[in-house]
Amino acid sequence: MISVVLPAYNEKDNIVPAIGEISKAIEGAGEDYELLFISDGSSDGTYDVIKEQAASNTHVKGAEFSRNFGKEAAIFAGLSIASGDAVIVMDCDLQHPVSAIPEMIAKWKEGAEVVEGIKNSRGKEGFFHKLCAGAFYGIMSSLIKIDMSSSSDFKLLDRKAVDALLELPESNTFFRALSFWIGFRSEKVYYDVEERRNGKSKWSLGGLVRYAIRNATSFSTLPLKLVTWMGWIFILFAAVLGIQTLFRFFSGTADNGFTTVILLQLIVGGFMMLSIGIAGHYIARIYEEVKGRPRFIIRDTTGDLFGNLKGQWK
Ligand code: UDP
Ligand code: MG
Repeated sequence: MISVVLPAYNEKDNIVPAIGEISKAIEGAGEDYELLFISDGSSDGTYDVIKEQAASNTHVKGAEFSRNFGKEAAIFAGLSIASGDAVIVMDCDLQHPVSAIPEMIAKWKEGAEVVEGIKNSRGKEGFFHKLCAGAFYGIMSSLIKIDMSSSSDFKLLDRKAVDALLELPESNTFFRALSFWIGFRSEKVYYDVEERRNGKSKWSLGGLVRYAIRNATSFSTLPLKLVTWMGWIFILFAAVLGIQTLFRFFSGTADNGFTTVILLQLIVGGFMMLSIGIAGHYIARIYEEVKGRPRFIIRDTTGDLFGNLKGQWK
């Protein structure tokens, strides 16, 4: 049986088309399935549409969060509730083409435990957005030593991979990178990003920047090490300058370098504050993890899905 996890935040008009198209694709591949919609605290009646559909279609299941917890939380809630032998995660605005589903299932049957959806093109995006996404994925890829530039949340995971993800203790998850991190036998399926069916994208620029910083710091401690390196460079710089100053003092060519002093103070001060800021960011992450709050709170489910919750998400 295959579970499809669909995070949905204010997607009322996309639920019915998603059910129709995904059902057709999986039935075409000859598989039994469940469609699991996680309404991420929607305010437009998305969950009512899901409930309505679930009442007449046994393949459709749904849960709703008590408020908006974000797409990552919705994905992990879905993984935790899903009961399939494999789980497909995809957007419910149908930007992830259903035509890739049969290919993903075929690769899984051939023994792949993680099938990554890889974007051929990034679809319609502004220049600035492309630039930032490029920079972010460049850094992330070098951190986890895997090319993530065209990766997405569109994936198929075998039950083994899902259970491994659900065993992870942290609450600051980054699904897109963790599916690489857990390892397993992985295959790729290439797809073109489609136009959003209805409604508009939920991401603001500020939201994307926060998402990038959060994920980079939850996945790597390189920025902390950079701070140490900056410190060493400044100490070296100071030593060279000190020797040069002493030399000029004794040879009688020293001048009153007031600007140099101010400049150095500004530079050193700037880097100090930057460093404290970076350290502070990690302390904030640690604080969040230590509090051990749940990643999401489920308000309601269709049927009785609460019993399905697994791992730390119980
Ligand atoms: N989404 C969510 N919670 C949020 C924001 C988005 O569950 O806080 C879902 C949304 O309903 C969609 C998917 O995540 O199914 C991708 O969101 P969107 O289409 O807005 O992002 P984009 O495709 O523009 O990157
Ligand atoms: Mg979208």
